[in-house]
Amino acid sequence: MNHIRIEDAFWNRYTKLVTAEIIPYQWRALNDQVEDAEPSHCISNFRIAAGLEQGDFSGWVFQDTDLAKWLEAVAYSLSYEQNTNLEKLADEAIELVGSAQEENGYLNTCFTIGYPGRQFKNLKEGHELYTAGHFIEAAVAYYKVTGKDRFLNIMRKTADLICDVFHTSRYENAVCGHEEIELALVKLADVTGEEKYRSMAFDFINRRGCEPNYLFTESDRDDYIDVWHDKNPYLNVYGQNHLPVREQKTAEGHAVRAVYLYCAMADLAYAYQDLALWQACENLYRNIVEKRMYLTGGIGSSGILERFTVDYDLPNDTNYSESCASIGFALFCRRMAQISGDAGYIDTMELALMNTVLSGIAMDGKSFFYVNPLEVWPRNCIPMTDKNHIKPIRQKWFGCACCPPNITRTLASLGEYVCFVEKNALWLNLFAGCTIETERDGEPLTIKIDSRFPYEGRVQLQVDGGGELKHTADEARHNTGRSETDASGTEHSSFELRIRIPAYAKNPCFTIDGKSVTPQVEHGYAVFRENWSHQCISFTFEMKAQFVYANPAVHADAGKTALMRGPLVYCLEEEDNGENLAALYADTNAPVRETFEPDLMGGTVVLHASGRRVSSRESVSLYSAQKPALEETSLTFVPYHSWGNRKPGEMAVWMKYMTTDQ
Ligand SMILES: [Zn+2]
Repeated sequence: MNHIRIEDAFWNRYTKLVTAEIIPYQWRALNDQVEDAEPSHCISNFRIAAGLEQGDFSGWVFQDTDLAKWLEAVAYSLSYEQNTNLEKLADEAIELVGSAQEENGYLNTCFTIGYPGRQFKNLKEGHELYTAGHFIEAAVAYYKVTGKDRFLNIMRKTADLICDVFHTSRYENAVCGHEEIELALVKLADVTGEEKYRSMAFDFINRRGCEPNYLFTESDRDDYIDVWHDKNPYLNVYGQNHLPVREQKTAEGHAVRAVYLYCAMADLAYAYQDLALWQACENLYRNIVEKRMYLTGGIGSSGILERFTVDYDLPNDTNYSESCASIGFALFCRRMAQISGDAGYIDTMELALMNTVLSGIAMDGKSFFYVNPLEVWPRNCIPMTDKNHIKPIRQKWFGCACCPPNITRTLASLGEYVCFVEKNALWLNLFAGCTIETERDGEPLTIKIDSRFPYEGRVQLQVDGGGELKHTADEARHNTGRSETDASGTEHSSFELRIRIPAYAKNPCFTIDGKSVTPQVEHGYAVFRENWSHQCISFTFEMKAQFVYANPAVHADAGKTALMRGPLVYCLEEEDNGENLAALYADTNAPVRETFEPDLMGGTVVLHASGRRVSSRESVSLYSAQKPALEETSLTFVPYHSWGNRKPGEMAVWMKYMTTDQ
């Protein structure tokens, strides 16, 4: 994290907001200082638990996690921009967390304040392990960036308590109702070298869905606490507790829980070389991308229970597609790519990040979407209907505010998505302009990337490896993996550079120092093994706008089309196309024109297509036997992630298209 600096026209629009706007704004939100926003109570809860204030706990049982995600985002932001005041504020917040921790290591203000001494008595709904997981992730990030171990030690104490408690007979087969602790314990094991944390994570995933089913029978226990007062019966499938994880073949239940679990499954499949677990990860991934994912990388199509439903059930105007779910899915894809070396997973990760995750935040960083529909008619988004959860404009904050700080930590850690670094190798995943400082045999090697992506398919990498090159680039392509001696007699190992070729990239062309080369391609990565000194690699590809169609089994999209350009999904907005977007038809045979609009939403590529509009009748009758005429019209499309940044209004991704008889 400390070795990559993002310098990119597209991404910096968001990443620069993180430190300048979002982190300070969210700190005020956590302290209930944002006017007209739903109160968070988060810091106040910590102060009460620490004995610094009087009062009762307020908010959701997992309210503490807002602070955890904020601290994690601060950690990442400090990796690319030193900020003494922010670090001091974070250190103070960490001390507050430490003060709210109980003697035995327990950390959760909801239970410390509301149910003293009654820890881990409702794992189904209490989110205690989930909350601990987010704090562990934050502590690991803070330690890795700042080198300070205060926060890490606080969370080790909590993790030690978890390892002790969850190996007692009282907790045989016990798991958390909301996964997160599993992936966090893996990170803690990685950073501390303490294998018991990884082993605990492995136990948690192995217990899931196994008999005796702890979560299903938990409420029968004498010491059970009813924290949620939910009168609905517990659904095993909701928390992926319906089958042992290796037998799960379809993505089920609450989408965020599911993908957080899958992240840990991938981590642990790799750590323990567990092929059955890896196969389950692949099955679940394929089920999502082939049958249960929106074009935008959104997942979880039901507004009720925020969950997956059945294959091809992808409604556009009532869907949930929580921002957190796409973040978790991107994290899962990243792990799958890193373990397998297959760039196909990165295509999906990029789709989720550049569409749904970015849609979750306004371009001023001050308002957020929790839910990401693909079609909005603001007038019918009213409470107590199936669109109860759809907000046609971004909100300043949410009482249940999992998404805004999750988006922040994702943007702040963008470098982790851009590339993977290994010994003498670098995998370039996202085409973000940046400078990466890495090593070849302990010697510095710098890679500076310039990119016009996603506006143009043009990426340039300037590699500075220090040594002098003895042979031509062409010769070097055949010198795979062997050492070379430079002019000064210093021996260098070759450094492997893998550049992702996305599935949407047409006619990919590579040059080294202006000379055309044809690299070997492995699992979607162009592979260059060279004794780099000072070379420039250029990668260009075509990325024209194209109409796409859903499998006709997707009821919501049958007979419809959508426009994409590279990884970006485009949408119609009322601002450009007038009201009633449902009356529009696209002419998919006519060419799509692309224009770069420098003054529109910070500069963006706009797409223009031809189409028809159902003419509005003179008559005001609701129904009529008269077939309405279709009028010629032009259609204007903007990237989905930028919708809702101008005047509030209608939005649609999928539209009808004209058939030949029209
Ligand atoms: Zn969320």
